[in-house]
Amino acid sequence: MVVRIGVLALQGDVREHVAALGRLGVEATTVRRPAELDAVDGLLLPGGESTAMIRLATVSGLLQPLRDRIAAGMPAYGVCAGLVLLSTGAVLDGERQQQTVGGLDVTVRRNAFGRQVASFEGPVDVDGVGEVHGVFIRAPWVERVGPGVEVLATVRPGAPGAGKVVAVREGPVLATSFHPELTGDARVHGLFVEIVRAHAGSEKKERR
Ligand code: GLN
Repeated sequence: MVVRIGVLALQGDVREHVAALGRLGVEATTVRRPAELDAVDGLLLPGGESTAMIRLATVSGLLQPLRDRIAAGMPAYGVCAGLVLLSTGAVLDGERQQQTVGGLDVTVRRNAFGRQVASFEGPVDVDGVGEVHGVFIRAPWVERVGPGVEVLATVRPGAPGAGKVVAVREGPVLATSFHPELTGDARVHGLFVEIVRAHAGSEKKERR
């Protein structure tokens, strides 16, 4: 079954994700408007600037449809700023009263690794995927995980932010602090594609 996965294309590194998903044999499209959101089986929220994206989502009329779709169980994958967007509750070190889309019961700290190590790279062990090359760029980390949230990866000992949670999953919602689209390694995107396929399959069965 060919599934269609959207990449939220308000701002940020959209092209790299469309390319990575396309290589996995799914139909990858950009999403800027509510009608485009209606047409996808899952949505990837890319890295960029979460404050800019939430502002653009608000003015383009996409914020409420995004909230509704994700609350209704659409699979979503948030990368870096996308993780901030998917978090519920207050964003630590966010803008004053920074809004989010929600869907993932975690609290994140924005730009958490601090100025000295605003960006770094290193190996990360992701449950169900294996060791990946983690690229962190002004990345958030997860400070609180809700009871339904599975921790998929923490920072290795000796690295900046050692022990901090940097990959999580809650049902069909996946998020990473790091950027797999910049590594040429499609395994994390592959995990998301599997989630979308399983979900699209079960939706079809329910309709029958
Ligand atoms: N610091 C950015 C934010 O809070 C995220 C950076 C990124 O996505 N690379 O939105």
